[in-house]
Amino acid sequence: MATDPLALSAVELTAALRAREVTAAQLAEAALQRVSDLNERVNAFLSVTGNMAREQAEDVDRRFGLGQTLPPAAGIPIALKDVLAVKGVTATCGSRILEPYVPPYDSTVWSRLRAVGAVLVGKTNCDEFAMGSSGENSAYGVTRNPWDLDRVPGGSSSGSAAAVASGMATWALGTDTGGSVRQPAALCGVVGLKPTYGRISRYGLIAFASSLDHVGTFTRTTRDAALLLSTLAGVDPKDATTVDEPPADYTEGLDAGVGGLRVGVIKESFAEGVEPGVTDAFRASIERLEGLGATCEEVSLPNADYAFSAYYLLAPAECSSNLARYDGVRYGHRTKEPVDDVVQMMMKTRGEGFGDEVKRRIILGTYSLSAGYYDAYYGQAQKVRTLVIRDYQKAFEQFDVLLSPTSPTTAFRIGERTDDPIKMYLSDIFTIPADLAGVPSVSVPCGLDGNGLPVGLQFTGPLLGERAILRAAHAFEQDLGFELNPPLLAALA
Ligand code: GLN
Repeated sequence: MATDPLALSAVELTAALRAREVTAAQLAEAALQRVSDLNERVNAFLSVTGNMAREQAEDVDRRFGLGQTLPPAAGIPIALKDVLAVKGVTATCGSRILEPYVPPYDSTVWSRLRAVGAVLVGKTNCDEFAMGSSGENSAYGVTRNPWDLDRVPGGSSSGSAAAVASGMATWALGTDTGGSVRQPAALCGVVGLKPTYGRISRYGLIAFASSLDHVGTFTRTTRDAALLLSTLAGVDPKDATTVDEPPADYTEGLDAGVGGLRVGVIKESFAEGVEPGVTDAFRASIERLEGLGATCEEVSLPNADYAFSAYYLLAPAECSSNLARYDGVRYGHRTKEPVDDVVQMMMKTRGEGFGDEVKRRIILGTYSLSAGYYDAYYGQAQKVRTLVIRDYQKAFEQFDVLLSPTSPTTAFRIGERTDDPIKMYLSDIFTIPADLAGVPSVSVPCGLDGNGLPVGLQFTGPLLGERAILRAAHAFEQDLGFELNPPLLAALA
């Protein structure tokens, strides 16, 4: 094959595989080679599953050789955030507390991908238990942004975003609880999709905040996102919150364009603190959509301002409950220090195993759930969540999709925000509301800022409205023709 297969979308690779212009084994080798060339610098992968990848690829090639027609995901190199369980492969969640934990079962997302012949390259780095916006909260070192190695790739799905941006994998999965798929996708110049809550099973996703956790996708193109969603979506008896809808092909209708589409431009997108480079790219994107035939009008989500505060009560509350299971008895790490009793053992284990951010959230969550404060904090935050849901319902009476930047800034420098948690938390002001409401939302690249760093544009739809946002994002992407070519790759050429 003449072109670099790692610069192609899965749709293009599927065509090449079916035409036998490239084999799955060659693709797997190319991805593994890219990982060995770059991972030392980027730190996107925590484990590389070379043997598994080779075996899967061989099996795909064997079936192609028999003349079988395989699903589009067959042979596509994919990376999974290290919070998703793969049987027999270490899972860390970016934490020391799980060490050593090897899941005895597959997450539903991986069993679906495995069944259609996707090839696992490895497990990706992330902020500890998905808590963070920069990748700097991983116990295994920071992930670097392929567009500028001194900058963060965003987080918490830092490694998944960096892996796709640098071609170490064609696809990756991440999780989005407050923005952790869309924000790193924006900062790395790739497409990040967070579907409707319950669209993709959470079985085998190691929980952060269960009512907010969504599995999401990283791809080079919107069409790939639609394809990957078609592979993953669907009811799962192992996750009672999954939506009971028949399997669907989300690539259908993707080319319908945005003519007549009613786009609500979220007024709060122009708030203070948004970088000028982001605002410029955002304004240009609105014009582009209008040029393509969409009607763009301003709309307000009046409670979006409070969504942020509500999220930072609800997510820690749920995490304090979910992370109570790491007690040195049931899973992973147990202190080696001498202890007098079981309480001391747990305290020491948790003290050693968890990082600062996770501890901060557990303390905050435990406090907001405690008797006497529950109504004032947790209860209040739940009410705000309802108001945010109503804001969306009202907006979608008038509009088909809503538009905002994905992140108020482009990739910031490593270390720049680590001492200021609030500033770090603000990275997610535009992404959090969709997690609270469970509505689908996708980030697509919409250009570069003055420093040559990617800017993300976010389309949000009503519940189960993935088709509308994918169609809009696809039309935008086709017209823009963004080039995913981070400077890091120039050195490889
Ligand atoms: N950055 C947000 C947080 O730290 C979102 C994380 C996420 O979506 N997993 O909680």
